[in-house]
Amino acid sequence: MTKKIQAVRGMHDCLPLDASMYQYVETRIIQVLSSYGFSEIRLPVVEATPLFTHAIGDMTDVVEKEMYTFKDRRGMSVTLRPEGTAGCVRAGIENGLLYNQEQRLWYMGPMFRYERPQKGRYRQFHQIGAEVFGLQGPDIDADLIIMTAKFWKVLGISDYIHLELNSIGSIATRKNYHHTLIALLEDNVQILDADCKRRMYANPLRVLDSKNPDMQALFDTISPIGHYLDDKSHEHFNELCQLLDLAGISYRVNQRLVRGLDYYNGTVFEWITDSLGAQGSICAGGRYDTLVGLLGGRNTPGIGFAIGLERLVLLVQKVLPEITVPQSIDLYLIASGQGTERAMFLLSETIRNAFPDLKIMRNFGGGSFKKQFSRANKYRARLAIVLGEYEINHNQCIIKDLCKGTQQTVSLSQISFLIRMLSNILQT
Ligand code: ATP
Ligand code: MG
Repeated sequence: MTKKIQAVRGMHDCLPLDASMYQYVETRIIQVLSSYGFSEIRLPVVEATPLFTHAIGDMTDVVEKEMYTFKDRRGMSVTLRPEGTAGCVRAGIENGLLYNQEQRLWYMGPMFRYERPQKGRYRQFHQIGAEVFGLQGPDIDADLIIMTAKFWKVLGISDYIHLELNSIGSIATRKNYHHTLIALLEDNVQILDADCKRRMYANPLRVLDSKNPDMQALFDTISPIGHYLDDKSHEHFNELCQLLDLAGISYRVNQRLVRGLDYYNGTVFEWITDSLGAQGSICAGGRYDTLVGLLGGRNTPGIGFAIGLERLVLLVQKVLPEITVPQSIDLYLIASGQGTERAMFLLSETIRNAFPDLKIMRNFGGGSFKKQFSRANKYRARLAIVLGEYEINHNQCIIKDLCKGTQQTVSLSQISFLIRMLSNILQT
């Protein structure tokens, strides 16, 4: 027997029941995004590799260990996007969307990281992300964070997720801090793991993002970057905190929060849940005022975030198990007897045209009335329209309410009458 081909490790099918849950979550988030004036941007899944090495930083976990990078047929190095911000900035520069303009963009789609697959951590996963360009005040930081809080509110999960907030200051702040940090790391070089040793000169702040618990004791002794903030960054962060207080958003200032990608400065934040074990980070983001310049555009401030959709859906399913997306249909058409199938075929299209929002199916493959009704029940149809020879000969049909068990005969001589009858029934 031929060997079955299976999905690639860490990449999953999303079956119809799950897909409807994703649609449920995505629709609500997109609705909030558009209420804050964000527009969708659709971006390629494959980008030139240097985009990510430049933007994310070559001494990060993502670039060093997690990228799907390969040569195309012409030998050009391309990468399956591990995140959305770099591509969004690239597209913004390339299409002249950024300089001297204000942009609020969102994107959604698959991201790829070669990680060890486990619950909430996959090699192909999905994000909804948003980016704001051209605004640099703390008021837009606040707006963006308040909008993320609104996502959780409309999804009903606010009680299961909390906000952590920090400022990592300006590039100058980070340079200052680097000196202090390197000195301290040098003093403790014998206890650093291999990753930390490799990064301590090229990217010392990244060392603090290490997931190795053995490093934590040492990091606890290091005074956080918050102690080194310049006045402007301080002011920005204080104003942001005040705006969040004003909006009634709770947060915890976590001075250890530095974020895993290189391009951040100033505000960084993360929404975390305790309900999903180790994979607690649901949404993460921050300000990146130098990224557009770094990628060849004219300096434009930016701030954004990305939500891990798999984790968000897992959270909704875990804490709100009662949320089930209905898998039923509204109407099932049944026909048996001479000349009835063609009439059903035409009638189904007429009804679909009149009720574009209804889920309407008709019977395929013939069969007795009994068999067709059992199919209607399998689809959990609310109503059935029944056409037999008698009905066709008398130019009528039967509408049967499959929940209540009631039925009525309706003339087909005026389709508008049938449509009216159906709307009346559906409204009750
Ligand atoms: P983690 O610390 O869990 O590895 P991260 O810091 O690498 O997360 P980001 O790069 O900030 O994550 O991506 C934003 C969000 O995307 C995360 O908060 C998470 O919800 C989701 N995410 C990241 N990597 C994965 C993955 N491999 N599988 C599923 N979701 C992911
Ligand atoms: Mg990661």
